[in-house]
Amino acid sequence: MNQPIPYLDLAAQLRPLRAELDAVIAKTLDNCTFCLGPEVAQFERDFAGFCHAQHAVGFNSGTSALHVAMRLLDIGPGDEVITTPFTFVATSWAISYVGARPVYVDIDDATCNVNPDLVERTITSHTRAILPVHLYGHPCDLDRLLAICQHHNLPLVEDAAQAHGAKYRGKVVGTFGEMAEFSFYPGKNLGACGEGGALVTNNEAHAARARALREHGASQRYYHDEIGYNYRMEGLQGAVLGVKLKHLAKWTEARRRVAQRYHELLADTPLQLPRESDYAESAYHLYVVRHPRRDELKKHLEAHHVGCALHYPLPLHLQKCYQSLGYQAGAFPVAEKAARECLSLPIYPELTEEQIDRVGAVVSDFFK
Ligand SMILES: *Cc1c(COP(=O)(O)O)cnc(C)c1O
Repeated sequence: MNQPIPYLDLAAQLRPLRAELDAVIAKTLDNCTFCLGPEVAQFERDFAGFCHAQHAVGFNSGTSALHVAMRLLDIGPGDEVITTPFTFVATSWAISYVGARPVYVDIDDATCNVNPDLVERTITSHTRAILPVHLYGHPCDLDRLLAICQHHNLPLVEDAAQAHGAKYRGKVVGTFGEMAEFSFYPGKNLGACGEGGALVTNNEAHAARARALREHGASQRYYHDEIGYNYRMEGLQGAVLGVKLKHLAKWTEARRRVAQRYHELLADTPLQLPRESDYAESAYHLYVVRHPRRDELKKHLEAHHVGCALHYPLPLHLQKCYQSLGYQAGAFPVAEKAARECLSLPIYPELTEEQIDRVGAVVSDFFK
């Protein structure tokens, strides 16, 4: 029997890094720099450099960073933030945490990113920000979104949790809007050995306030200027992320090669394949194919020991937790169709040619 192909294989990523990781972890243990500290500070400088940004502020998760982004914009009760219903729920949590209302618009069928045509007509006098997601690692249509923001004097916040190193017109995402949030959850393109996140910005005042808010609202120890959080990044995570960041560009190239190979292997199937827009260089966090017989295809893959996943099976406007927003089924048909049809195939830098070819063969076999 063929070896199973896991949907995700973190062990394969850690194996070649093990000695280097052991060394930086040992150093952090020796120095007892557990909460923030020099490893986190160094990683923040390096990650800001990677994003060509002035500032990166480390957090204990992407969700925390996005929550603080909403605080930095002074968004609160009575305010609306326009965002996508087709994303991981954390995008909307940030809006809800500050007491504001997520206002959804439908997505573009080709990219599954928010449809700029629909954003503008959804703006009201209560709109305070636009929060698009670079879903699956594919950048949004930023020129058009930024033009709308400029016209209405609204800030744009990038949810770049899935898009480390993705490029829009040749420039890495993270500094197109007022600020951007990244996640370092283990399965993300750059993952900690635990939780982590970052807020990236070119605005010095935002960066300073974010540093205070993540540390109990204190810019000086035991003097609390505003109500804050314990959202600090751990020293061990900063150390691990510093090691892994050096490999990220190479890993992104490898992901793009996997995607290219899938593209060739699956071109003759009836699947709707991910396609890069002319402005985009995707970081291929996920490789999501689409087909109306998705559930059967998923069973077929599982029966042949090929891992797969759904991103995402239920759009946010239909989640139980957001029933109070008052959206009905049918409100966002493109997102609802994507939720029925999407299937994520294994994509990670360590996938071998042989594994990629077998995934391709098993998928093609389903349609024979
Ligand atoms: C992972 C993710 C987040 C949240 O990140 P955590 O670090 O898990 O809190 C936010 N938005 C999107 C789109 C994500 O995929």
